[in-house]
Amino acid sequence: MQRTVEIALSPREAADPVLVRDAAEEAAAMARGTALASRVLKRSVDARSKQPLIRMRVLVSDAPIADEPVARPELHDVSAAPRVIIVGAGPAGLFCALRCIERGLRPVVLERGKDVRARRRDLAAINKLHVVDPDSNYCFGEGGAGTYSDGKLYTRSHKRGDVEGVLRALVAFGASPDILVDAHPHIGTNKLPGIITAMREAIVRAGGEVRFNSKVTGLLRDDSAVRGVRLADGTTLTATATVLATGHSARDIFRMLVAEGIRIERKDFALGVRVEHPQAIIDQAQYHCAVRDPYLPPASYSLVQQVEGLGVYSFCMCPGGIIAPCATAPDEVVTNGWSPSKRNNPFANSGVVVTISPEHARTNPRDPSDPLWGMHYQRDAEHAAWKAGGKRQSAPAQRLDDFIQGRASIDVPACSYPPGIVPWRVDELLPQEVSLRLREGFKAFGQKMRGYRTNEAVVVAVESRTSSPVRVPRDAITLEHAGAPGLYPCGEGAGYAGGIVSAAMDGQRVAEAIAQRYNVRA
Ligand SMILES: Cc1cc2nc3c(=O)[nH]c(=O)nc-3n(C[C@H](O)[C@H](O)[C@H](O)COP(=O)(O)OP(=O)(O)OC[C@H]3O[C@@H](n4cnc5c(N)ncnc54)[C@H](O)[C@@H]3O)c2cc1C
Repeated sequence: MQRTVEIALSPREAADPVLVRDAAEEAAAMARGTALASRVLKRSVDARSKQPLIRMRVLVSDAPIADEPVARPELHDVSAAPRVIIVGAGPAGLFCALRCIERGLRPVVLERGKDVRARRRDLAAINKLHVVDPDSNYCFGEGGAGTYSDGKLYTRSHKRGDVEGVLRALVAFGASPDILVDAHPHIGTNKLPGIITAMREAIVRAGGEVRFNSKVTGLLRDDSAVRGVRLADGTTLTATATVLATGHSARDIFRMLVAEGIRIERKDFALGVRVEHPQAIIDQAQYHCAVRDPYLPPASYSLVQQVEGLGVYSFCMCPGGIIAPCATAPDEVVTNGWSPSKRNNPFANSGVVVTISPEHARTNPRDPSDPLWGMHYQRDAEHAAWKAGGKRQSAPAQRLDDFIQGRASIDVPACSYPPGIVPWRVDELLPQEVSLRLREGFKAFGQKMRGYRTNEAVVVAVESRTSSPVRVPRDAITLEHAGAPGLYPCGEGAGYAGGIVSAAMDGQRVAEAIAQRYNVRA
């Protein structure tokens, strides 16, 4: 007999497999000790009541439960297959490459940055020396923006593809199987590079290529169709299809598309700040306790408030995390966040952002009909933050309650941001439409979550790369650019994803579309 049951245990009980099996037997109305095997299928923290519970869906059986092998995709040799150029080795590009191989196409991935190992040195240079390499940083390099992230894998994009399939592939390449079970799975910055390396090695073993230090600067076209790419070193490469998976920070690519007369569209995006609290404050608020139960994970939050018809919302919350310096040019400051797999840093950070469109930014002098309006808006805010930070990677910061009250912070608290923070009137630095909405949003968050509104928390500017400011339009069925056949806009930068999993799924979809278009099957 096999049954699936729902159980809820205390965090300590939930950590003990024997107690989990006993509880599952009881819920399945089986005699104690008759279950031969049990397996947790789903697990989540329920902190709604005073005593937080771990809720689990458990398969319990009086016979052995067969293992569900998590196999790597079947990758046959494609060295002689039609070539597909994939620009960008982020999640969209890598998952596109793997699916191309499964469908009998030969991917050549061109990445402007370095491999994960070499990339580390450039991250250290940002953190310690305030030096930003425009081709190798937290956004550019093998694995894309996701490599040194929290690796949160939660997505609402279930309609866009096979979420479970992406998670299973990540497990096959080295992620913990826990990500298949946890309601809010995450991998952690320390684990991601190994997974990315394993993916690249699989691509190369199957006859694909991944070339680093290969910045694409232009497209090869004839009769308006895209036939390949031009690289920064002056060489060219032709292919059956060209996938543009360059992420939302590749501003030179957006400019290149405009210069080449390839249509792109302005898109609403989000901008705001990173807010950091001591983790203990978030734990106390979410778990209703003085000290977090050691069996509970560091607490997270997700907050949203409508202000004048627009959402102010928390984004990419990193419990036990670090605020990351994510500039892609030397004269800008950009924040984001990451966590190690154990989320064991003493701080909790989160983006808090508002949606930006020309309609809500009327004081902005730039031309709203410019498709690059949003990109310029982001860039202006990032440059202002850089100047305020002393023209280094130090970030301007203000205590949270001072931000709300509109007063200067005499000093700023300890903060995880490695290049350091400097006290500044962040409320005055940000565009007015952002600052005013954030202020109202923070007031509301303080009412929704006990302890949130505190001067122990700090607001760090500027969180500007949460979403792409442009969309590169494509046909809904063929996924090709309508005005440039042979070009496949893909992933977050093209406006079709927001996060690691949705970017990966978009990469897979694009590979499927190319295989269908050229009638290739493995
Ligand atoms: C610090 C940080 C933390 C994050 N945390 C999370 C998280 O926990 N969970 C989550 O879901 N998302 C997170 N994100 C967002 C996530 O990383 C992105 O949504 C995702 O990586 C987008 O995938 P992509 O493949 O579309 O683009 P990207 O990952 O941006 O990859 C684009 C790639 O293209 C390359 N490229 C750009 N221009 C060129 C060119 N001209 N020639 C050649 N190559 C080029 C870049 O170097 C880059 O490697 C985080 C991002 C950052 C920066």
